[in-house]
Amino acid sequence: MQQATVRLYDEDAYLNEFEARVLSCEETAGGFAVVLDRTAFFPEAGGQTPDRGEITDGAGAHVRVLDVQIDETAGVITHVTHGALAPGSTVTGRIDAAHRFDNMQQHTGEHIFSGLICAAHGCNNVGFHLSDQTVTMDYDRAVSAEEIAEIEARANEVIWRDLPVICAFPSDEELAGLDYRSKKELSGRIRIVTIPDVDVCACCAPHVRRTGEVGLLKVLALQNYKGGIRVTIACGGRALRELSENRRILTEMAREMSTAPEEVPAHVAKLKEELSAAKGRASALAGSLLMMRLEAEDPSGSAGLLTVFDGATDPGSARHALDAWMDSHAGLCAIFTGSDADGWNYLAGAGRLGEADAREVAQTLKAAFGAKGGGSREMVQGRVQSAEAEIRRALQKEGI
Ligand SMILES: [Zn+2]
Repeated sequence: MQQATVRLYDEDAYLNEFEARVLSCEETAGGFAVVLDRTAFFPEAGGQTPDRGEITDGAGAHVRVLDVQIDETAGVITHVTHGALAPGSTVTGRIDAAHRFDNMQQHTGEHIFSGLICAAHGCNNVGFHLSDQTVTMDYDRAVSAEEIAEIEARANEVIWRDLPVICAFPSDEELAGLDYRSKKELSGRIRIVTIPDVDVCACCAPHVRRTGEVGLLKVLALQNYKGGIRVTIACGGRALRELSENRRILTEMAREMSTAPEEVPAHVAKLKEELSAAKGRASALAGSLLMMRLEAEDPSGSAGLLTVFDGATDPGSARHALDAWMDSHAGLCAIFTGSDADGWNYLAGAGRLGEADAREVAQTLKAAFGAKGGGSREMVQGRVQSAEAEIRRALQKEGI
C-alpha cells in the first residue's frame, strides 16, 4: 500500500511552490498518474474543483497538471499530468496562485454565508459546488429573498470585521466538546475551520487567513431546490467582475434607450406594451389584407379549392379570414401560413353555402407529405413540411 501523501495545503494555504519526491508515475488513458511524497495541490474534494499548475523535473522540463484526485481511504493524492516524471527524482510543483486564491475567497465566503444562514434559520447546508464558473450552496429549508438579502448584508459585515479564519485538527476530546457543522458523518482526523462567533465547520479545503480577504460577497441567484433552496454567490474578484459586467450591460442598455440606468425597467415595460399594441395592429391589418385577397382570388364563389400561401399572417388572423370567407362561399379554401424553410401551418374550411368536405385537404397532404393534422368536415388544421410549389402540385393532382 502506498504511503499517504503529506498535504502541504493543510498547513499553509498560501504555499504556491514546493519540492517533492516522485513516488510513482504510471501512464493512463488521460495522461500520467503521478504520486508525490508531499503536495500543495488541492485535489477535487468537498464539492471543489482541483488546483491547476505544473510540475518541473530536475532537468527543468515542465509538465502540466491536468487533474488532481484523492483516494480518501488511503490518503494518496494522484496528479494527472500531460508528461512523465522519473520515479525517485526530486521535482518542483507550482500551483496556479490566482486560481487557488480565487477558490479560497469563494470557499471562505461560503462558510461565512452558511454559518450565518444555518444559525439564523435552523437549516442545514446539504450541498456545495465550487467550479471555475459558479458557486452554489443548497439548504434544506425555504428561506425568503428578503431573508437572504439580510444574510448577505451580515456576511459582508463579517468580511469587513476582518475576523481570523482558523484551520486546525482538534484532539478527540476537543472535538467531543465542539458543536460544528458537517455535511456527512466523519471519521479519522477531522479538520475544523473556525470563524469566531460566525461559524465552526468540518472542512478539508484551503481558506484565506482573515475574512477581509474575501473582499465582497454577492448573492447572484436564489431558487427553490428539492424542498429547500439553492443560493448562487460570487466572492472577491469574481464578485467584482460580475458586478462590473452587470453595470456595463445596464449602461449599454440605458444608452440604447436614451434613458438613465435606473429608468431601464420602466422603459422596458413601456416598450413591451407598445410592441404588444403594434403586433395587434399588424395582425389586424394582415387579417384584413388576407380577407381582401381571398375575395379577389375567388369573387364568384366557385365550388373548387382556393389555395392561398401567406408568409406574413399569423394563424389567428388566418382563422378569422377563413371564417368570414366560409360564410359567403360554397367550395373549399386552404390557407397556409409560414415559409418553405420553416414549414407551413395550414387551415382549410368548407364554405357554408355548399357541401364540400375539408377533410379531403388534410387527407391529401397526409398522403403526399405525411403531414400532421385533421378536423371536421367543416374545418381542418395541421402542419406540413414541404415547399409551396410541391404542396400546390399535390393538391392540383387530386383535383379537389
Ligand atoms: Zn468548506
